Amino acid sequence: MASLYIHIPYCAVKCPYCDFNSYAAREWPEDAYTAALVAELQTRATETPWSDTTIETIFFGGGTPSLFQASSIGQILDAIGRAWPVAADVEVTLEANPGSAEQARLRDFRLAGVNRLSLGIQSLHEDLLTTLGRVHGVEEARTAVDTARAAGFDNLNLDLMFAIPGQTRTQWSDDVRALLQHQPEHVAAYNLTYEPQTPFHAWRASGEVQPLGEDDELWMYEHVRAACAEAGYDHYEISNFARPGHTARHNRGYWEGRDYLGVGAGAHSYASHPGWGRRWSNHRLPERYIASATAGDATAATEDLAFETAAAEFMFLGLRQLDGVDPTAFHARFGQDLEEVHPEVATFRTDGFLEHRAGRLTLTNRGLLVADAIFATFL
Ligand code: SF4
Repeated sequence: MASLYIHIPYCAVKCPYCDFNSYAAREWPEDAYTAALVAELQTRATETPWSDTTIETIFFGGGTPSLFQASSIGQILDAIGRAWPVAADVEVTLEANPGSAEQARLRDFRLAGVNRLSLGIQSLHEDLLTTLGRVHGVEEARTAVDTARAAGFDNLNLDLMFAIPGQTRTQWSDDVRALLQHQPEHVAAYNLTYEPQTPFHAWRASGEVQPLGEDDELWMYEHVRAACAEAGYDHYEISNFARPGHTARHNRGYWEGRDYLGVGAGAHSYASHPGWGRRWSNHRLPERYIASATAGDATAATEDLAFETAAAEFMFLGLRQLDGVDPTAFHARFGQDLEEVHPEVATFRTDGFLEHRAGRLTLTNRGLLVADAIFATFL
């Protein structure tokens, strides 16, 4: 069983906080890029370890995959179906922006085989959408949810963002309330981060942008946790909340260390074998990717993981999930006890950041608030 990630790198504009492999474009070579994806899928299906697998989840991410026509998405799904057995209950997610052009395509995406939609709402306040440099407005964000429902999507994720410069606690609680009124199956709430090489990073350094205070950021995180719990959502990953039976199966695969194949510009793949695991990455620039995938080799780099890297990834991916990691599974994979390889765990337990719960090692409520700092120690 494997998960399949398809990267579509084009966006209407480049948001100033974004460090994804995405490119602002007025026009994009949709036919050539789709043909390159189909060529790469055909090639990967003949390669170890992908030749002998069943596809369990498919995720169209980006960039903005909803800029593509449904017929292109359909061609890619057809190529996947020709190359591999696909699970009968396959989860097929597509990321979409709430723009009106994209909304017109939602029904066709559903008909093409997409059965889960992830809408990048981000905020329901016009001033904050402007700060984020997003092209959609509040009205488009609101109608996108209704349009998605009318198009037949009964599995919907809505993304919201907090700790945006200038955002008030009231704005955040309004956004969370309004979002939950739509009763999405899944909610992802991310705090804005200042990634190196982005305009936001430079603007923070020059003082042009004032990051929100830590107290406000923590309050916003606690608020969304409480509101989602009250509305019946399970907080199952640091930033993710789901109604019963609606966790993101594709993303859970990453956190649980399952194999995934990524196709498209700059996409990464991971397999737990041989050795301690192997990672691949494709050429990042779309033009270079199109040329290399068409010629039959999109891979730019391959890395065989060292024991230390694999043992660290097991921890910081697994601990993202609220039910944490299984020490027995760690021993089975690495042949040593978890706390022997990661002696810092004992200190985190003593200090109240990690705990044993139901036979697993998990972050405490206190640990959740400083998770990134804890993860950094495993590297
Ligand atoms: S739409 Fe998404 S992928 Fe594209 S630039 Fe903005 S944040 Fe990045």
